[in-house]
Amino acid sequence: MKLNELKLSNPYLDLPAECHDRVTPSPLVKPHLIHANKDVAKLLDIDEEELQTEDFVKLINGEFTAEGSDTFAMCYAGHQFGHFVPRLGDGRAINIGTVNGLHMQLKGAGETKYSRSGDGRAVLRSSIREYLMSEAMHGLGIETTRALALIGSHHKVYRETWETGAIVLRVSPSWVRFGTFEYFAHKKRYAELEALADYAIAESYPHLMDEANKYLLFFTEVVGKTARLMAEWQAVGFQHGVMNTDNMSIHGLTIDYGPYAFLDDYDFENICNHTDQGGRYSFGNQPNIGHWNLQALMVALSPLVNSEKLEKVLDHYPRLYTQRYLYLMGEKLGLKNVTQEKDLDLFKHLLGMLQGLTVDYTVFFRTLSHYDGDRTALLKLGLYHKPMNDWLDSYDERLQEDAWSTKERQASMLKTNPKYVLKNYMLQEAIDAAQESDFKLVDDLFTIAQDPYSEHPEFERWAGVTPDVFKNEKLSCSS
Ligand code: AMP
Ligand code: MG
Repeated sequence: MKLNELKLSNPYLDLPAECHDRVTPSPLVKPHLIHANKDVAKLLDIDEEELQTEDFVKLINGEFTAEGSDTFAMCYAGHQFGHFVPRLGDGRAINIGTVNGLHMQLKGAGETKYSRSGDGRAVLRSSIREYLMSEAMHGLGIETTRALALIGSHHKVYRETWETGAIVLRVSPSWVRFGTFEYFAHKKRYAELEALADYAIAESYPHLMDEANKYLLFFTEVVGKTARLMAEWQAVGFQHGVMNTDNMSIHGLTIDYGPYAFLDDYDFENICNHTDQGGRYSFGNQPNIGHWNLQALMVALSPLVNSEKLEKVLDHYPRLYTQRYLYLMGEKLGLKNVTQEKDLDLFKHLLGMLQGLTVDYTVFFRTLSHYDGDRTALLKLGLYHKPMNDWLDSYDERLQEDAWSTKERQASMLKTNPKYVLKNYMLQEAIDAAQESDFKLVDDLFTIAQDPYSEHPEFERWAGVTPDVFKNEKLSCSS
């Protein structure tokens, strides 16, 4: 449909007033479209031709009022690096309305009641990162928020230096965070807490709406979804960087892309966020933090459900995580009938070997996906051959147990191990060009983000090992 035929609803505004604050977006100066996502436009029933119009830029810039739009920011609290902050909220995200169950949100559209000392803006570099990475995660089959479009502008925004402001119109089936529950629990506003729980159940787990013990079952679902998401991140080598409870989705989505990173060389202890000196959000600690965050959510839900019952549910988290992780690693290695007893040692041996040899995580699995007994390409990935040979001996042995031809295994592995992930150095190159008004690399990275398992001969240079100078660079939190 045309933009002027869009009809928006605002279900979140039915919640008590303390859940949100109505606020009008503040447009950026001289906005221009950088990229639009045709697939997301389809989900919103927006005609492709509309993406080229002035009205479309106005929509992303918060200047186009669609029918039914009622703009607002959401209130939440959160544990940041383990410390409780009683009020955070959307400091720079403004909701503009819902279409087909997808809530549209403008990130970087100006101050809200929850901005604290922030300016409500997002700079071009961080907006490019969120825009591309959310699509990349979707392309990898990992649950995530998505984005309809990215605009740049001449709007001056100060960070460590003067930069320009940008807005991403991002969409999600839910923007409710663990921290949203923590806000009301901390204030002892139990009527609001209950209304929020009912809302989140209707939005994310509607099959539970009529269940007698719906709040317990709701928590059970969130525990399962979170365990699953953590396993997906670990298997693909994704590091979020800021797993505060306000950045944890009740729907089990990857949300709020900040200083994230894909692993370059495998490093269990890798830290990608340079404010995270203690490594709370290091790569290897993510599953534990998922557990910790669920515990914070559990405490927030305890006024609604018996705590002992909640605890029993949470006790399943390690098992759920491990089950899913083993399954995914089995897929990555092209193994059938994976069991903990049989295969855990093989996986541990592998990760130890990758860490010891400092092998690129993504390149290793993609190279292994072509393995047919000839070890040459794999041995080239590490300086010493013995550790790789030892592991490959165990792997060869394990492969004998599955009645799978080499061709079948390879075909399956090539669909599981991406050829392309958006490493930080690639994004940085696209950002550097974009800051000189050249958006070709944003287009290119978007193409491989959407289709990371296929060969793209024209983008072969993005499929290799990260150049040494760019490995494991740290980024800062919000920008
Ligand atoms: P983040 O680390 O990006 O998830 O942000 C943590 C909190 O700070 C959230 O409540 C954000 O809305 C808020 N925030 C981050 N950057 C800004 C900004 N530039 N202006 C206002 N609020 C911000
Ligand atoms: Mg956040």
